[in-house]
Amino acid sequence: MNPFDYRRAEDAAGAAAMVADNPAAAFLGGGTNLVDHMKLGVAAPEVLVDITHLPMDEVEALPEGGVRIGANVRNSDLAAHPLIRRRYPVLSQALLSGASGQLRNLATTAGNLLQRTRCVYFQDTSTPCNKREPGTGCSALEGYQRYHAILGASPDCVAVHPSDMAVALTALDAQVVVQDAATERRVPIARLHRLPGEAPEHDTVLNHGDLITAVELPDMPMAVHARYRKVRDRASFAFALVSVAAAMSLGADGSVSDVRIALGGVAHKPWRALRAEEALRDGPATEERFAAAARAELAEARPLPGNTFKVALARSAITATLRQVHAEARGGDGHGGPGGHGEEQR
Ligand SMILES: Cc1cc2nc3c(=O)[nH]c(=O)nc-3n(C[C@H](O)[C@H](O)[C@H](O)COP(=O)(O)OP(=O)(O)OC[C@H]3O[C@@H](n4cnc5c(N)ncnc54)[C@H](O)[C@@H]3O)c2cc1C
Ligand code: SF4
Repeated sequence: MNPFDYRRAEDAAGAAAMVADNPAAAFLGGGTNLVDHMKLGVAAPEVLVDITHLPMDEVEALPEGGVRIGANVRNSDLAAHPLIRRRYPVLSQALLSGASGQLRNLATTAGNLLQRTRCVYFQDTSTPCNKREPGTGCSALEGYQRYHAILGASPDCVAVHPSDMAVALTALDAQVVVQDAATERRVPIARLHRLPGEAPEHDTVLNHGDLITAVELPDMPMAVHARYRKVRDRASFAFALVSVAAAMSLGADGSVSDVRIALGGVAHKPWRALRAEEALRDGPATEERFAAAARAELAEARPLPGNTFKVALARSAITATLRQVHAEARGGDGHGGPGGHGEEQR
């Protein structure tokens, strides 16, 4: 690991200025991703600006009905918070499906959002990787592809974004509150992460020195019935092959009045399934339509030779999750409340 300076800022704007002023500085959250990368030689910041003591560690109800989550709220605390368990159980489920209890005790909301890809070549400094070292090539194109993208990839990078939490936040239409040295702005979560294009070294639209201070959830009554389904190689301590976060509300006649669907493990960013949503809205809530919506979303999938199975897997996972949230929304046989399916996946 390279030698580095450790600093603390007085406030959010000061922290943003400290990092913005030095291209070799980085924010330190829980450190569970960044410090691993420093040990592996993937990242070599010269200055770490610790932000964990800044007052960004509350989960609060907003006057207009939503919820504000401080950037420093630990993943364990967020998953267990009564407001989240009651009103946005999909977020608790997604968090509890990720990492391990010890990691979740350290990991922060902002750090989780900005964790980097788990592509094995990105983490192995002896191999070419356009994301780690632009212009060197993409080892995954001829290599191990099981965990890689089937949607929105480019010839320069086929990696996927690894966060479970970000998939739930995408289905929930969250806003990310960002502070730079001078101003605060809000970025819709769907626009925070990028597709790789020709610049896979940039995971997000944030500038160097932009500090995430909070994530805001809108008031969303149907989120009470939202669910997270994660398909993976092991029952715990494994990243998603495919994951689905979904919420549904039904009209008086039982048709789908509104729906939100987001996918993980399939693209360089959490994937909002807008085609599937469009195919479902304002029509009957039937198994055939759930399957058709899943097919519509995956019509543009371009799997790699090593992950063709993911297309059928994603179709099945979407259909199964829609079936489940439909049962929940009908007050039927879903496993209601935060003790539902996600929590068994520790
Ligand atoms: C063995 C293992 C298994 C895992 N399994 C899963 C899993 O199944 N699902 C899953 O989703 N995750 C998983 N993770 C990843 C884990 O969730 C992340 O490591 C963690 O969420 C990162 O949070 P952190 O606070 O430790 O981030 P850090 O490591 O501190 O930071 C990560 C990045 O975010 C930046 N950053 C931190 N805070 C801010 C801020 N406020 N504003 C701007 N930038 C900031 C840092 O500079 C850094 O670039 C796993 C990790 C490990 C080690
Ligand atoms: S998929 Fe992306 S992260 Fe993985 S080797 Fe290729 S360029 Fe690097």
